[in-house]
Amino acid sequence: MKYEAVIGLEIHCELKTKTKIFCGCATEFGADQNTHVCPVCLGMPGVLPTVNQRVVEFGIKAGLATNCEINKYSKFDRKNYYYPDLPKNWQTSQYDLPIAEHGWVDIDVAGEKKRIRLTRIHMEEDAGKLVHSGTTIKDSASSNVDYNRTGVPLLEIVSEPDMSSAEEARAYMEKIKAIMEYIDVSNCRMEEGNLRADINVSLRPVGTKELGTRTEMKNINSFKNLEDAINYEIERQTEVLEDGGHIVQETRTYDPARGITLSMRSKENAHDYRYMPEPDLPPIVTSEETIEKYRSELPELPDARRARLEKDFGLSDYDAGIITSSRAMAEYFDAVVATGADAKLAANWMMGDLAKNLNEEGLDISKSPVDAQRLGEMIQLIMKDTISGKIAKKVFKEMWTNTDSPEKIVKDKGLVQITDTKAIEGIVDEVIANNQKAVDDYKGGNKKAIGALVGQVMKASKGKANPQMVNKLLAEKLG
Ligand SMILES: [Zn+2]
Repeated sequence: MKYEAVIGLEIHCELKTKTKIFCGCATEFGADQNTHVCPVCLGMPGVLPTVNQRVVEFGIKAGLATNCEINKYSKFDRKNYYYPDLPKNWQTSQYDLPIAEHGWVDIDVAGEKKRIRLTRIHMEEDAGKLVHSGTTIKDSASSNVDYNRTGVPLLEIVSEPDMSSAEEARAYMEKIKAIMEYIDVSNCRMEEGNLRADINVSLRPVGTKELGTRTEMKNINSFKNLEDAINYEIERQTEVLEDGGHIVQETRTYDPARGITLSMRSKENAHDYRYMPEPDLPPIVTSEETIEKYRSELPELPDARRARLEKDFGLSDYDAGIITSSRAMAEYFDAVVATGADAKLAANWMMGDLAKNLNEEGLDISKSPVDAQRLGEMIQLIMKDTISGKIAKKVFKEMWTNTDSPEKIVKDKGLVQITDTKAIEGIVDEVIANNQKAVDDYKGGNKKAIGALVGQVMKASKGKANPQMVNKLLAEKLG
């Protein structure tokens, strides 16, 4: 039997508010353990929480940016569970009346567009962090609890199980990340845990509608782990089903070092949490005017920006999709074009040499040693024929470690393109005299032989001869 995967994601997105969701403690990452705590986030008896209005604003904006309906009447609920990371023994979250519901985002995978529905977006507090003395809880003699993260505001963004491959799940999470960055509600630093996903995976025979039993993998915090964990889990479940077994509903953990998922605990159902309305917080009532005000404050979103780059600059759908895939990329592109650089060249350089260098060093574009201004200046040197595209690669490489302007680098390194006809003619004559075989081949009808001659001229000029002029002069001289 052939199976298809059914995948849904719950993405936890840490919000970039200055203070926690129900108290005035700082949310800053990386502080000493238990220095950002107070009686409220420590769950002392008798304390009363108050809602940080910024969190509600961010929740509504996230909902609007993902085509959700905003619930004008929304409330908080207690999700009861016992674990040291939350000293209250419940998490203040939202259950039946979340801030936003019924949204969607579009993704592209291999040129195909697909709409992924969002079930809901709700607000909740993050839990603390267990710091084990060993590498895992099992091999640790003791564990400390750090409550700095307790009460940091989160949005939980829940999708419908609309994805059917690891690539689609990745594209969806990338889209959510881009949107949250664009609307500026989260830093989205996955390595700091700002954005992490719980993944639900089940299989069903191709062509059937009924959902199979699912497993959940928690706290996946990189795109690579997301894809690897899903692919592993699809393979594992396929094997179980093909051997005539059945899938156990459970929570599994993904071990990136071994590339496998492991059973953690049997999966709990909603009723296990004994949800109840939070009696210490009033419901959140939002007026139409407030919603419209937040809507008017939203920036241009990734899809709209992509369409604009295609329309205004003639970029291909693919290129525009990559350029707008993160806010930082899109802003870098705008800044390069603002210097007067050609938009298509800007896109090519960003997706080519710039992306390659950033990848190699694991750098984000915001930390690029070549900033938008200097890349723009370099592209203008190409546009003015001061350097050829090929020489530009050398200049770009130099710019990576040299903070001089591209113009100065070109001068200092003697890389100015030779566009003087006389100078090029001299080299062309020499090459023709020394490459009789290629000349004969060309004259004998093998027009491709000119390529070897062009190569020789470029080599003799150390790559500085203008390639179009070389081609033209050679063709003329060879008749
Ligand atoms: Zn606090």
